[in-house]
Amino acid sequence: MHIAFIQPSLSGLLSSAALQPLAFAVLAAQTPPDIKMTLWDERIESIDWDATIDLVGISVETYTACRAYAIADRFRAKGIPVILGGFHPAFAPEEAEMHADSLALGPAEALWPQIIMDFQSGKLEPRYQQHPLSEFSDVRFDRSIFHGKRYLPLLPVQYGRGCRFKCEFCSVAAFYPRVQYRPVKAVIEEIRESRTRTLFFIDDNLFSDPDAAVALFEALIPFKVRWACQTSLDVARHPEILDLMVASGCFCVLVGLESLNKENLVQMKKAWNLCSQYDILLNEFSRRGLMIYATYVFGYDADTPETFAHVLQYSLQQRFFLANFNPLTPMPGTALYQRLLRQDRLLHKSWWLDPDFRYGAALFRPKNMTSEQLTAGCFWIRRQFNTHRSMIRRIQSPANHRDLKRLSTFLMANWITRQEIYRKQGRCLTAPLYEHTNRDNLK
Ligand code: SF4
Repeated sequence: MHIAFIQPSLSGLLSSAALQPLAFAVLAAQTPPDIKMTLWDERIESIDWDATIDLVGISVETYTACRAYAIADRFRAKGIPVILGGFHPAFAPEEAEMHADSLALGPAEALWPQIIMDFQSGKLEPRYQQHPLSEFSDVRFDRSIFHGKRYLPLLPVQYGRGCRFKCEFCSVAAFYPRVQYRPVKAVIEEIRESRTRTLFFIDDNLFSDPDAAVALFEALIPFKVRWACQTSLDVARHPEILDLMVASGCFCVLVGLESLNKENLVQMKKAWNLCSQYDILLNEFSRRGLMIYATYVFGYDADTPETFAHVLQYSLQQRFFLANFNPLTPMPGTALYQRLLRQDRLLHKSWWLDPDFRYGAALFRPKNMTSEQLTAGCFWIRRQFNTHRSMIRRIQSPANHRDLKRLSTFLMANWITRQEIYRKQGRCLTAPLYEHTNRDNLK
């Protein structure tokens, strides 16, 4: 038996910044050893449509849903059964099941052995639903399916999943109803076995449980690895924990600032972010030499056309390593989506399937600007933040150039980000299924 795992890309685009898709390493570890496995990650390679395959498993995110469905349809037309999993089918199962023989709803690690058994005995169920409280602690990763593939030289590692907060626009809390961790020992063992010394903790929020975070940081110290993570800003209120992070090798933090406006933060249920203290809290990172990757969303009710220039000025003044400026995106399954639907403000209800929708465009009617202004403002601020002049200004932050590794990280990441802005903006998510979209044609 031969199973193909497929990671679709956005509109078939190749990416210069792909990380190993860990979800497939989890499935690989659960797959019996007598079954052959192949991974096709469309972000870095083509799908071999002519390979002899018995079963296909596709990971579906909202942005890649249309592409995933087209791939699934093509395999199913050849009589090969397809299973769809990931965030998107969990929030839109009626839609996803039109393109699948079976759906894995929720985190799939506990479902996969049953799915394989049922498939082999010819009794594949239309849906498999993981219990929301199923354990994460025993999850194992088999990274052998990534061998020989050209991913970023940054090892994704997962310590926990879920987040203790419930920001209105975020799907994490809806998908993972509680925060769960693997044993620190298992994480350390995995790091010890890997040859990569630069890690990225892909946890939704590495600071969801301060005690668990401290246990990890203490255990990491002897390994002399370098690592980056996503964390909520409130970690900066704990100087002793920040010191421990740095001592254990942390060099970069990705922090969701989201907005500089208090009303917006209240509306998005992120008032705890306390924008009045951003300067003080961000300085806690910078003075310890941590590179800061800030993320923002635009389009909440207090945002106006002037907001973009204000946020740009602040971000340049802070000399962030990187920053992401996104139009507020109503993902299915989120409280935001439901609110905008109720208020009749959505421009496209199933925007991920809408041939008129373009990547980077506003998806709803903002209160204090037009949707066109929101689209243009986000594209403008992305370009302005990523000019060469801006890079020269930002690189002057000591955190961004204090050693050769950071300097090269800064230059490489900013170069990739700059390219990605132009490649993705305006892409149609429902483009026909070509083999691949050549990256050079898209500049
Ligand atoms: S803090 Fe981050 S991960 Fe947690 S709910 Fe908010 S946006 Fe999602």
